[in-house]
Amino acid sequence: MKFVYDFHEGNKDLKDLLGGKGANLAEMTNLGLPVPPGFTITTEACRRYLRDGRHADELAGEIDAHLATLEQTIGRRLGDSDDPLLVSVRSGARFSMPGMMETVLNVGLTDASVAGLSRQAGGNDRFAWDSYRRLIQMFGKTVCDVPGAAFEDALHEAKAAKGVEDDVQLDADDLKALVTAYKKVFVEHTGHEFPQDPREQLDLAVEAVFRSWNADRAVLYRRQERIPADLGTAVNVVAMVFGNLGNDSGTGVAFTRDPASGEPGVYGDYLANAQGEDVVAGIRNTLALAELEKLDKRSYDELLRIMATLEGHYRDLCDIEFTIERGKLWMLQTRVGKRTAAAAFTIAAQLVDEGVIDLDEALTRVTGSQLAQLMFPRFDLSGDPVPLTRGVGASPGAAYGEVVFTSQRAVEVSAQGRPVILVRRETNPDDLPGMIAARGILTSRGGKTSHAAVVARGMGKTCVCGADEMTVGPDSLTIGSRTIREGDVISVDGTTGRVYPGEVPVRPSEVVQYFEGDLDPERANDPLVAAVHRILTHADEKRRLNVRTNADTGADAARARRFGAQGIGLCRTEHMFLGDRRELVERLILARTEADRDDALAALRPLQRADFLEILREMNGLPVTIRLIDPPLHEFLPSLEELAVKVAVAHEHGQRVEHDERMLAAVRRMHEQNPMLGLRGVRLGLVIPGLFAMQVRAIVEAAVALAAEGGNPRPEIMVPLVGAVQELETVRAEAEKIIAEVTGESGVRVVIGTMIEVPRAALTAGQIAEAAEFFSFGTNDLTQMGWGFSRDDVEGAFFWRYLELGIFGISPFESIDTEGVGRLVRIAAEEGRATRPGLKLGVCGEHGGDPDSVHFFHDVGLDYVSCSPFRVPIARLEAGRAAI
Ligand code: ADP
Ligand code: MG
Ligand code: MG
Repeated sequence: MKFVYDFHEGNKDLKDLLGGKGANLAEMTNLGLPVPPGFTITTEACRRYLRDGRHADELAGEIDAHLATLEQTIGRRLGDSDDPLLVSVRSGARFSMPGMMETVLNVGLTDASVAGLSRQAGGNDRFAWDSYRRLIQMFGKTVCDVPGAAFEDALHEAKAAKGVEDDVQLDADDLKALVTAYKKVFVEHTGHEFPQDPREQLDLAVEAVFRSWNADRAVLYRRQERIPADLGTAVNVVAMVFGNLGNDSGTGVAFTRDPASGEPGVYGDYLANAQGEDVVAGIRNTLALAELEKLDKRSYDELLRIMATLEGHYRDLCDIEFTIERGKLWMLQTRVGKRTAAAAFTIAAQLVDEGVIDLDEALTRVTGSQLAQLMFPRFDLSGDPVPLTRGVGASPGAAYGEVVFTSQRAVEVSAQGRPVILVRRETNPDDLPGMIAARGILTSRGGKTSHAAVVARGMGKTCVCGADEMTVGPDSLTIGSRTIREGDVISVDGTTGRVYPGEVPVRPSEVVQYFEGDLDPERANDPLVAAVHRILTHADEKRRLNVRTNADTGADAARARRFGAQGIGLCRTEHMFLGDRRELVERLILARTEADRDDALAALRPLQRADFLEILREMNGLPVTIRLIDPPLHEFLPSLEELAVKVAVAHEHGQRVEHDERMLAAVRRMHEQNPMLGLRGVRLGLVIPGLFAMQVRAIVEAAVALAAEGGNPRPEIMVPLVGAVQELETVRAEAEKIIAEVTGESGVRVVIGTMIEVPRAALTAGQIAEAAEFFSFGTNDLTQMGWGFSRDDVEGAFFWRYLELGIFGISPFESIDTEGVGRLVRIAAEEGRATRPGLKLGVCGEHGGDPDSVHFFHDVGLDYVSCSPFRVPIARLEAGRAAI
């Protein structure tokens, strides 16, 4: 096992082992781009360290060997007092986790080597002392957990003592004094001196990077982003180059295209005479990258050439970190860049136009969750609201909410169910919980590459940053003479960067309007809409899974059809028993004689028939799966407690309330300890004579009526909660009689099938398929019963703990548990089809619209997924992606 790779030895496909940063540094090195030499310690070394609590035995020797090679290449020894080599020690995991883990720059500087560094820089003492104080600060914070504020306070004092505002106004002597102050801070917090052995610095920094994998904020970020917890991080050791050597030096970040819109061009930020994280942290205001052309045309031109090389090589938008040291350009990082959802679609379509990728590949470059983001509404500005201020639109979306100024308040207020906008000068990784809780994020500093921007884009959260007219205090913000306090409402537009006072109304997204078929003609050529259309059309051509919708009303059915639904996979009938009709249901339940009951059923039937006719008409020509009544009947009755009190009060007043008394008795009789596992679904149909028959008759009558109008009804009757074939056979026998009787000569064909949602049904699917023409997996109940927990009870009660412990990485109600519940689906699909080869298989749980689950259902070989109307385009896209 090899734990250390020179940059020459790696390549971009080794991300699992070298992390994204290391793999791409190797790739750039091998492309002949100017990358400072260095090596990567593998993620495997990190996993070993985290597992065993110490390094693998071979590691130290391998680091020695690679360090020796690096020293030879550069011609300097690490931390040498006359002519020191300095290195950066940089984290870099498989997946980019911006700002989550640690990096230490200038490793190798000591009291002895600081003078050597100054000589290297042509007698630049200021630079040498500045680099040293940065090392102590970063090393102290990262490696030894010294609170950052302790260093910042010392820096403040130094500036105040001198009466200056900016770091660059401190001269060599000031910085030398600051180093002394920092070393004191270091000793105070750690109990030992700042290490003067360069190799010890290196080793401690490597260990700290390994440990940072499990820092709280990294753990939280991974959970949010669904990144597995056991990957570990690689560590890159890179020879230092210096952007802080003067005004002919600097550091910057760049994108090969606009990461927000996808437009090709020059995008990025540059900061002269600065090192490392100064740009990303938004500590000083940066220049637009285009300005670099004026400052240093040669480096600028070379950077553009390299950007073109990288885009051609990766065939995608890349983002880049670079540093210029005295007019010499160095590449410090690249990766296929994060982008907004809109940019993902437009870039993919543009790359197809440019002949760089084909449509199949374009489909792999976008995701269902990106499409979901594009379906968010945006602000309606027709009322011409006057903006409070504006900043950089860093992550699109329209969000309004109460202003809060701390991460903690964001969490508290949003826990009370109120939307919040988190306002900060700039964010840092400690703000992550508040960023997750907030609807939107607003900062006064930093650009599109600041921490706030990068993290918000990753989370798909609305963000405006760099609103620099705004002054953010501890509990208010001011813009000119205007003050906004905690609790005031503002609206933040992450697309335009505008911030409005109060709540601005929102309007639907153009992508939704396009689906609805009512997009303004002038917006029909919108590049985003065109890209979505093109890629989704290609997904439709590729996918094997059909996509249906869950819809209970004609209006929902019609909308879903516009969104591309190929039928209804689940029409619930229970809402049809609520409202005015509740009284009829009560009559049914309270019926004392057969005649009473028949009266109630007869009154319900025409109402049901009208419901079904409307839906079948909207879905004319497409299959419509109607589920017979499912929930426990007591859900249609008043609450036991309320009724008991009402009757008791009446009795106290000596009144007789006959109806209420009868109702109370019925409610008592039907009260269940575990309604989820009680009298519901097929059990109801078997216990209450005539109930299912009434529904079946109404369905068939509606179909016959539609056929008489010249329509093409395709009803499918679905029996819920079946656990044994005998249940289904009993219902089927009765239904078939009614079907035969009602359809007569109409030519209407009615299909009968069942839900598979009880584990026993999945395990006896071979038998059940004898009586079923289709299966529809009810994965919500199958998950509840498979795990033995009730969704309503567990999600708030203990799921957080399960997620924290990693018992599951994501709630099994959100994304199907492929190993357990998914196995039940697999077994039922195989055994059902063994009995009845043409058996149609679908899924109608909420998983039908979840991207990961769609891929699973594709793999299992289902015929269709069914999901809510708004998820239909997402399922279409993911089904296409699954088929590539
Ligand atoms: P992150 O993953 O947070 O971006 P990096 O490891 O990329 O962290 O490092 C943080 C900053 O330090 C970046 O701006 C990077 O360009 C700079 N940096 C890293 N290594 C070097 C180096 N060898 N020389 C100069 N600057 C460096
Ligand atoms: Mg970092
Ligand atoms: Mg970086």
